[in-house]
Amino acid sequence: MPPRKAKGTVVETSTTKVSVSKAGAASKVESKARVTKRKVVEADPEPDITSEEEEDEPRPVKKRKAPVKTKVEAEDSAAEEEQPKTAAPKKRRVTTKAKSKPEDTMPLAERTAIASLKKAMYIGAHVSSAGGVQNSITNTVHIGANAFALFLKSQRKWANPPMTPEARDGFRSLSETHNFEVHKHCLPHGSYLVNLAQAEKDKATQAYDGFLDDLQRCESLGIKLYNFHPGNTNGDARDAAIGRIAAQLNKAHKATSTVVTVLENMAGQGNVVGSTFEDLRDIIALVDDKARVGVCIDTCHAFAAGYDLRSPEAFAATMTRFDDVVGASYLRALHLNDSKAPFASHRDLHANIGTGFLGLRAFHNIMNYDALAGLPMVLETPIDRPGPDGKTVEDKQIWADEIKLLESLIGMDAASAEFAALEKKLHAQGASERAKIQDQVDRKGAKDAKKASAKPRGKGKKKKAEQESDDGSD
Ligand SMILES: [Zn+2]
Ligand SMILES: [Zn+2]
Repeated sequence: MPPRKAKGTVVETSTTKVSVSKAGAASKVESKARVTKRKVVEADPEPDITSEEEEDEPRPVKKRKAPVKTKVEAEDSAAEEEQPKTAAPKKRRVTTKAKSKPEDTMPLAERTAIASLKKAMYIGAHVSSAGGVQNSITNTVHIGANAFALFLKSQRKWANPPMTPEARDGFRSLSETHNFEVHKHCLPHGSYLVNLAQAEKDKATQAYDGFLDDLQRCESLGIKLYNFHPGNTNGDARDAAIGRIAAQLNKAHKATSTVVTVLENMAGQGNVVGSTFEDLRDIIALVDDKARVGVCIDTCHAFAAGYDLRSPEAFAATMTRFDDVVGASYLRALHLNDSKAPFASHRDLHANIGTGFLGLRAFHNIMNYDALAGLPMVLETPIDRPGPDGKTVEDKQIWADEIKLLESLIGMDAASAEFAALEKKLHAQGASERAKIQDQVDRKGAKDAKKASAKPRGKGKKKKAEQESDDGSD
C-alpha cells in the first residue's frame, strides 16, 4: 500500500495538475457560500455503506426505535438546512456519528492520472453527500478517487425537500473544476425504502414517486447512471414481481430522458430479486428501452450469491456466464467489496479489499480485465475503526489506501513476490473476522438442516418478516 501522502504535495487530477494550495483555495472560495454546510459535513460525514451491506442480514427491529431515529433525524435536519439530500446514516452507526472526526481539507491521497495507469480504471467510493450533493465532489477529491457514488437525498425518508439550485449548481461547477465526468463516473445509489416490486397500489406509487424523483435529480445534475436494488417479492410470485419492476422502469424511462437505470446484483436469496443473473436478465427482457437499463456487479454480492471470482479461471467463467445470461454490454458499473462471509453463503457482509473470502487475487482479476475499463468502480468497504477514546470513528484513509492498492494491481504480475506479500498481509488482517463469520454460517447451516428435517415451514415465514423489516417500506 502506498504511504500516506504528506500534506502540501501536488494533486494530480485525471487531466490537470492542481497544487494542494490551489485546491484548498478553491474550496475556500466555495465554502464561503457554504460555511454552514461544511460544518454539517464535518458533523455528519458519512453515508453508511457497511450497514447497507448488512441489509440482507437479519437486523434487529429494535434499531428502528424512536430514540435512535430521533437522533438521526436531528442530524438530518441540520444537514437539510441548506440542502435536503443527506447521505443518510444507518441506525447502527448513528450513535457514533456526532463523534466522527472532522474531515481534513487536505486530500488524504492525490488522484491518480488515469493516463498513467495501464488500464483506464476509474476507482472511487460511496462518499457522503451530507449537507448537499455538491459536497460529494469535495469528499471524492479528499480520498483521491476518480469515481464515486452518493445518495441523492436521505435514503431513510420518503419525504425530501427538492434539491436546491445551489446544490445543483455547486455539484455541476465542482465536478467541472475537478474534472469529473459525472455522466460516466458517478453512480448514485437508490434509496433502500424503494421497492419497485411492491404489489400494493399505494406503496407501489410511493416507491415509484421516490424512484422517479431520484432519476430527475440525476438528470438535473448531468448524471447518467443510477444504481438501485431491484426489489423484493414480499412473498409473491417471482415472475409477477419482476413484471412489476419492469413496468415501473418502463414508466420511469418514459418520464425521463437520459438516465440509465442500473440494477445491482444482490447477495440474498428468498424474496430478494436480483441475486441471480437470470433475475437481472428477466427484468431487462421486459424493459422496452434497452439503452436505459444496465447492471452493476457488486463483487461481494456476486460471491455471496455463488458466483466465484477468486481464481483467474473462476473469474473468467463468471464473466462469461454474465455475458451468456445477461449480455456483457449491460454491465455499466462495479461495486468493489471483499466479503466477510464465505462463498455462496448468501450473506451480505462487506470486507476491506483483500481481507475477506474473495481475497486480493479476485481484485487482481478485476483490475486487469480489459472490458471493465472506463466503468465506475465504487468501494463500499467498511471504514469504521476504534478511535482513541474507544468510540468508533470513520477513517477515510482506508478508502484512499484501497484506491491506490487497487490501482497498483493494474499490470502487476500476480506471480510476483510483491503481489504475494500484499496478498498475505491482507489475508492475515482479515483472519479473525473470516473465522467469526464462517462459524456463524456453519452454525446456521446446521440449524437450518435440523429445521428442514423437522418443520420446514417456520423458516420461510421468519425470512419474510426479516426482509420486510429490512426493506423498511412497512
Ligand atoms: Zn447497494
Ligand atoms: Zn453494492
